[in-house]
Amino acid sequence: MRDLRPAGWVIRTNLDRPSLQPDQLYLEEVGAPVWEREHRAAGLRQIGAKTRRYVYERDRHMCRRCGVGAAEAYPGEPDSHARLTLGHVNPHASGSGAHAENLITECARCNELVRNLTGVQMDSAQVWERVKALPRRSKQELLEWMEADGRPVKPIDQAWGMYRQLPAALRDEMRQGLRDLLES
Ligand SMILES: [Zn+2]
Repeated sequence: MRDLRPAGWVIRTNLDRPSLQPDQLYLEEVGAPVWEREHRAAGLRQIGAKTRRYVYERDRHMCRRCGVGAAEAYPGEPDSHARLTLGHVNPHASGSGAHAENLITECARCNELVRNLTGVQMDSAQVWERVKALPRRSKQELLEWMEADGRPVKPIDQAWGMYRQLPAALRDEMRQGLRDLLES
């Protein structure tokens, strides 16, 4: 199961679905065919739990490519739920290992997209069009992100990202806990 999840398989336990028995699993989404050679996840399966946690934490539990958070909906698709996984910074570099500096947090959708873009470079002119179309204040902000090579995240965003990574039952508990805290 630990090998399947990074490959996009969504397998639920009774932690995320209270209706399941502790010994039951529910296959919600079939991921990449890991038995095929090209999907034998270039070292992804060798990522230890510690590295995995470190990368998610470093990236504030957000897709580094599109910015979506765990279980958040994609823009314009209120019913969608993004799922985070790990990908390689440069998916085409052969032999890039399972070290944190080679890994980034990606949502399953971006991960799939990036893997399918083999050899295709983002068209710089297209990106520039987008950049130019931004209002001046956003341009300024973007430049700051570029210079810092990262997007500043407030503590509230970080707390939100971590909360979204919890199984549903624990999220319910925490929501109630915060409600109680604020009302006391
Ligand atoms: Zn994404």
